[in-house]
Amino acid sequence: MKKAEDAGHIKTFNRSSKISCGTPVQYLKGVGPARAGLLSRLGINTIEDILYYFPWRYEDRKNLKKICALLLGEAETVSGEVVSAEVVTTPRKRMKIFELGVSDGTGHLKCKWFNQPFLKRYFKEGEKVILSGVVKGSLYGTSLEMENPDFEILGKEDGLIHTSRIVPVYKATEGISPKQLRTLMYSTINSSQHLIEDYIPEDILKRNDLKPLLWSVKETHFPEEFSDIIALNRMKSPGHRRLVFDEFFLLELGLALMKKKETLEKGISFKDGGALINKFLQDIPFKLTGAQERVIREIKSDMLRPLPMNRLIHGDVGCGKTVVAVISMLIAVESGYQACLMAPTELLAEQHFINIHKMIERIGLQVVLLTSSSKGRPLDDISQGAAHIIIGTHAIIQESVKFKNLGLAIIDEQHKFGVVQRANIRRKGFNPDILIMTATPIPRTLALTLYGDLDISIIDELPGGRKPIVTKVFFSSQKESIHALIKEELSKGRQAYVVYPLIEESEKLDLKSAIEGFEAFKRIYHDRRIGLVHGRMPHDEREAVMSKFKSGDIDMLIATTVIEVGIDVPNASLMLIVHAERFGLAQLHQLRGRIGRGGYDSYCLLMAYPPFSEEAKRRLKAMESTGDGFKIAEEDLSIRGHGDFFGTRQSGIPDLNVANIIRDIDILEISRKEAFALADADPEMKEYPLLKEKLQRKWTGRLELIKS
Ligand code: ADP
Ligand code: MG
Repeated sequence: MKKAEDAGHIKTFNRSSKISCGTPVQYLKGVGPARAGLLSRLGINTIEDILYYFPWRYEDRKNLKKICALLLGEAETVSGEVVSAEVVTTPRKRMKIFELGVSDGTGHLKCKWFNQPFLKRYFKEGEKVILSGVVKGSLYGTSLEMENPDFEILGKEDGLIHTSRIVPVYKATEGISPKQLRTLMYSTINSSQHLIEDYIPEDILKRNDLKPLLWSVKETHFPEEFSDIIALNRMKSPGHRRLVFDEFFLLELGLALMKKKETLEKGISFKDGGALINKFLQDIPFKLTGAQERVIREIKSDMLRPLPMNRLIHGDVGCGKTVVAVISMLIAVESGYQACLMAPTELLAEQHFINIHKMIERIGLQVVLLTSSSKGRPLDDISQGAAHIIIGTHAIIQESVKFKNLGLAIIDEQHKFGVVQRANIRRKGFNPDILIMTATPIPRTLALTLYGDLDISIIDELPGGRKPIVTKVFFSSQKESIHALIKEELSKGRQAYVVYPLIEESEKLDLKSAIEGFEAFKRIYHDRRIGLVHGRMPHDEREAVMSKFKSGDIDMLIATTVIEVGIDVPNASLMLIVHAERFGLAQLHQLRGRIGRGGYDSYCLLMAYPPFSEEAKRRLKAMESTGDGFKIAEEDLSIRGHGDFFGTRQSGIPDLNVANIIRDIDILEISRKEAFALADADPEMKEYPLLKEKLQRKWTGRLELIKS
């Protein structure tokens, strides 16, 4: 009985009227459980997934070259008829080579595959084949050759799909060839095109000159109308433009709705006091910069309004974000609320704790540090409200941490906290205000996507007395010049940092370490006072060394990246970064921000150990050529590609498949504008049920976007 039911179930699924976007691929003709398993490896599970699995490149098989016109050294695609297929064995029987002879009437091409004799089974004389590979001349100049070309064998009925056109090439996987995938795509698009409904409002399409969705999907898989554009300029056809728009639009609309939803909710309206802040301002030994004052005004005006604040502070290393954070926290505390500050690592949290504790200890507030190892007392202080300011790591958003009345949450350092984490923090209080500080500025494009729901404040001014830093790359062979520079700075009375990638030698990595370096520097600079800090030192010991460096009792500080933040020694004018080729751009920039704080000419020496990658070269070059954090961030993005930033679990936003935030920035901006306007006009998507459904599918499991 059970069996019959199951069978019936499958049957109804097979009827095309019942097929929906979410139907598993298995119910497609020609896809059984085995193939469904293979497809799943490509991330294809449903019919919608197939329709949206786009080619990663195209091959022009419309204007296939004749063999006589092939160019040596070029990657080319040709078709021809098989005239011979044999396995030859090299003289000393070392290697079996499968050789395929192909002719098209204008010439002869020989293809070779090494150690794959089984290929012979696939080819029959007289069959038509397509081959793509780099063209070489044969040893004796008698024919053209390709080694290990990609091939497709054409059957009699294959003409329409696989040749005489611009053909899509899909990323395939073992067990399913690009050609099989192409066939499957072709039939799925034909059988399931009724599933592709245009969900973007008509007027948006018109205004932005966007093509219909169905047309765009078909045209991107199997180009017809704009095949010439596609052949030449891969991902910039009108079809792509529409698909890219959609992807960005759904992303931006999600962010826009979230933002809208928050503005519809009630937040805390803080009091406009100021006594604590005035006291604090009297205590600090400097005057706020104009940029700091402006940003504080922006934050304050957010905090006084009865809506939840969602603001991002953008500002380069050393621009003074910590003071801005402290003042914001004081606003909250003065109104009787708690405030917290979260850092991405324990070290950074500790550093913040020490700095902030020092800054406000005279005001008489209780500051506590909360990390994953905290137990008992701090937790009680937080839940009972004895703790005014809480500084910590991710531990702050753990279930077990209960606040008495969290009013403001500040998140330091970008990238690590996405929209989902922000939502988690919200639940810790009654819609606390949220402030995010990014120490390494992120490119505008990323800010628009990752932080599209935030208001942005920029601190674009460094406290006075900062000078540009001269940065130069040295190779490990130029140690003499490096020492000469260090000695010169020290003899002027300045101090220096030396940064290593590792604490101690490791068997796995052939890198210099801080402990090793400490010994070496002590030998070379025996008349100087040298200190060592790293993350495995007990916290008190580390602090003791750092404060000695700060007071000038140490000339040179050998360190790991623990000094990345929170250290401020204006007299330090030189930094040597050992194995600079191994550091990321953001980190190099962050480290360099430790010097140039005292009005002296400053030097950042990047010591690199060849051989290193092309990317490392670009990073070092970027460091040499600019000190501007925004330019560094743009360069970082272009070196790493945007994929790195879109680890979904981290950022909490949907993946991008066709769109690329570097290449398609123009479309991103259009889609953002449209999305925000729509969210404003119809925040519940009442008029756009199709769009609403699509949006919810896209953001499934990430956030509840629309209040139901
Ligand atoms: P970042 O923005 O990188 O977090 P910090 O907040 O750590 O920068 O500030 C860098 C240093 O500049 C700190 O030592 C801080 O005390 C100092 N500072 C901040 N604002 C000013 C200012 N307006 N004038 C002088 N020094 C300042
Ligand atoms: Mg900081």
